[in-house]
Amino acid sequence: MTVPCVRVPRERGEAARKRIAELDALSGTYEIEVVDGDIYIPLDESADLDALVSEFDVVDRDVDRRETQTLPADILGFEPSYERLGDIAIIDEDDDERARGIAEAIADSDLPLDTVVNRASPIEGELRIRNWDLLVGDSTETVHREYGCEFEVDIAEMYFSPRLATERRRVVKQVEDGEQFFDMFAGVGPFVIPAAKQGAECVGTDLNEAAIEYLRRNAERNNVAERVTAIHGDVREISGYDDWADRLVMNLPHSADEFLETAVELAGDDCVLHYYDIQHESDPFGPGERAIREAAAPDYEVTVQTKHEVRSYAPHELNVCLDVRFRR
Ligand code: SAM
Repeated sequence: MTVPCVRVPRERGEAARKRIAELDALSGTYEIEVVDGDIYIPLDESADLDALVSEFDVVDRDVDRRETQTLPADILGFEPSYERLGDIAIIDEDDDERARGIAEAIADSDLPLDTVVNRASPIEGELRIRNWDLLVGDSTETVHREYGCEFEVDIAEMYFSPRLATERRRVVKQVEDGEQFFDMFAGVGPFVIPAAKQGAECVGTDLNEAAIEYLRRNAERNNVAERVTAIHGDVREISGYDDWADRLVMNLPHSADEFLETAVELAGDDCVLHYYDIQHESDPFGPGERAIREAAAPDYEVTVQTKHEVRSYAPHELNVCLDVRFRR
């Protein structure tokens, strides 16, 4: 079927598609095509062609009727690997050209993804942030939805991993109405916000001021601001919460052991600790359990309730969680 299409070079495809969508001129009936470095974007019957011609190269072209959603694999000819966070697609490609090709295909597909970023560094530093190459789009900020909660997050400014959604759900399901919940490394609040929604009185601390600002916004956004206290700073220097917590979350896996003294200070008479760790597969729980027992003695009786494998972290390394009960 011959229809009017905007023709643009591939690298300008996403910007053009967005502009055409803004003008309400994007066809939902015909497939976008990529031929010899150009993208052909079919226009809707109702499109104002005169207005479009002044902005774009409009040509008549024989294009296929859309049968299903166009996915990145349809454009690329192979299945790319990417992770979704709100409207951001996150890829992990060493080869820049391959990364650009995947990014363009994601942008040209029917997926509701406006931004594509490639990992440009490991997660680094105390704030646990990584660098990104922004390949499509103009912002690293998005809104991620998880089990009925919404999280505003800027991945260039703060840590966030959508991969931990199931694990967070596992922990939050244990939260009881009215309990005092303390997240020592709260980030934008993916534990705090759902815990507050379950009726807990929550405190979240983080060294990253931007993350704390987003945690406050997320508390408002999810209508739990009255049950959330967000504190910027080093959790070891926070005062006013000694013996306070019924539940503690420690998600700083590489160095949580350095914060166990603080955890013991924050723990109430009967407190459950969710302690995240990354260890060799030969003994993934041993080092954490020994460190916890040492820190809790002699004030608390310690019971390990669950030894849970969260995910594989690297070859032979596991990300694990120990759920531990402290009784004074
Ligand atoms: N709990 C959040 C989540 O699951 O998305 C964030 C976890 S992230 C692995 C660890 C967080 O700990 C980072 O946001 C970092 O800024 C924060 N952090 C690191 N050192 C800290 C400290 N001494 N006191 C408070 N927060 C700290």
